[in-house]
Amino acid sequence: MEIIQNCRVCKGVNIVPFFDLGKQPAANSLLKSPSQKENFYPLSLSWCQDCNLVQLNETINPKELFSEYVWVTATSKTAQKFSEVFCQELINRTNNPKDGYVLEVASNDGTFLVPFIKKGYKVLGIDPAQNIVDMAVAEGVPTKCAFFGREAAEKILEENGFAKIIFARNVLPHVANTRDFVEGLQMCLDMEGTLAIEVHYAKKILDELHYDSIYHEHLCYFTLNTLERLLNDFGLFVFDITLSPISGGSIIVYAKREKIKEKQIVQWYRDQEEINKINALDRWQDFAKKSFLHREKLSDILQKAKQEGKRIVGYGASARSSTLLNFCGINSDLISIIADQNPLKQKLFTAGSHILIETPETAMKMKPDYVFILAWNFAREIMDILKNKFDYRGGVIVPLPNKPYIKETI
Ligand SMILES: [Zn+2]
Repeated sequence: MEIIQNCRVCKGVNIVPFFDLGKQPAANSLLKSPSQKENFYPLSLSWCQDCNLVQLNETINPKELFSEYVWVTATSKTAQKFSEVFCQELINRTNNPKDGYVLEVASNDGTFLVPFIKKGYKVLGIDPAQNIVDMAVAEGVPTKCAFFGREAAEKILEENGFAKIIFARNVLPHVANTRDFVEGLQMCLDMEGTLAIEVHYAKKILDELHYDSIYHEHLCYFTLNTLERLLNDFGLFVFDITLSPISGGSIIVYAKREKIKEKQIVQWYRDQEEINKINALDRWQDFAKKSFLHREKLSDILQKAKQEGKRIVGYGASARSSTLLNFCGINSDLISIIADQNPLKQKLFTAGSHILIETPETAMKMKPDYVFILAWNFAREIMDILKNKFDYRGGVIVPLPNKPYIKETI
């Protein structure tokens, strides 16, 4: 693990720490047994005085985090549905889109390339996790295993030429060498091509208290202000922004290598960030304070339910839930089991908090009084499954956004 000395975006040295979440394990390092040895690393945020970027102070070796990955996009129905919309949004913003190929960086299982394939586009995916690349290839999505950056970009260019459409969904914040990654994107992009970058929006994190999105894989927390500055450094110019339902609130920022007339929405975002002081340190210090208060409230709710002898099972063993569980000190004393649909996670134990992950069927057989919806950004999807598939009529505890709440029946 390394502690940064320079800002990841502007390389400045004036970085101000403002939120310490204590020592935590790598969120996706699930355990085969609760007694398995695990590493804990500090987890804390800083704000850059020069470019206003909010970022982690710590960098864990990416090979330790991403070479064997357990998040599979297709597990999420929301993501799958959204892939069709996303595909069309990109096609609409590109001139002669078929005149070239579509490149997805960190393409995971290829879910977001499939709609392009169906429309007859040539596609290429790049992802660093071999186990996930194998899954994508088996599904017929051409995918190469590599960490993306300048070096990978050179190879891609040599073999495939410029891409007409490039997209990178929820990956830029995970990259340690931020500038090298963006330079690689710029290198592969056709002069008339369109680049789309999706990030969990820092304004949403701030406004709705998504402190659970802070974990070791998530190194940078972008506002439009900080992302635009970074893109401009490499001759990429923002011309449009749309919303994405992923992560409970993400933005998709569209850029080109040439300056074209930007949509009004772009200036609207800039103004909103300015008015609400999203890029200022005191807003983020306030965020840290509110996160500690939220932790107290959530612990009270869970402790009270436990004292009343209620059985609680968790739902959704996402990376984000790891921060929530560890930061709030929630372990197997409070929650006996967590349901997750992803077979790669089942029968494993959550990092740090040591809670067994099982199929939703097994978890619901325990007849819980409350389902604690850890993957709260998919709360509606999960409540539908509970009602319709399991005929569940018990209560739910939903930790976020903003305040935790408890409902006696769904
Ligand atoms: Zn900076």
